[in-house]
Amino acid sequence: MARLCPQCGASFQGRSDKRFCSDSCRCDFHNQQRRAQEKELRTVNRILAANWRLLLQQLRLGRPDIPAAELAAQDFNFAVYTASRRRFPGPRTYWCYDCAYTVDRAGIVHISCSGYRNNV
Ligand SMILES: [Zn+2]
Repeated sequence: MARLCPQCGASFQGRSDKRFCSDSCRCDFHNQQRRAQEKELRTVNRILAANWRLLLQQLRLGRPDIPAAELAAQDFNFAVYTASRRRFPGPRTYWCYDCAYTVDRAGIVHISCSGYRNNV
């Protein structure tokens, strides 16, 4: 039975488990998938790195407690973090690598970074 190659669209025949018309189409297909995944990872990693620098910057400025709106105004992206956990009672804690933060009901972000020393 003839099938269509998902890479080039050509019709081909062969073993029933054969998905591509050729080795080159199989490699191209998987390389494109890998590149798309790497692009997505780079996008998320860029956001995480920018968030992390902003959190550390607040500590350097002596501002471990800062209104969320002020962080957002500096392009902090609250939708992206490396982990989160909620311990009842209390607010959810978010992590950006080694920096943890919570947002209280007044909209104040409380930041602590384990890698940060106050005398740096
Ligand atoms: Zn093909």
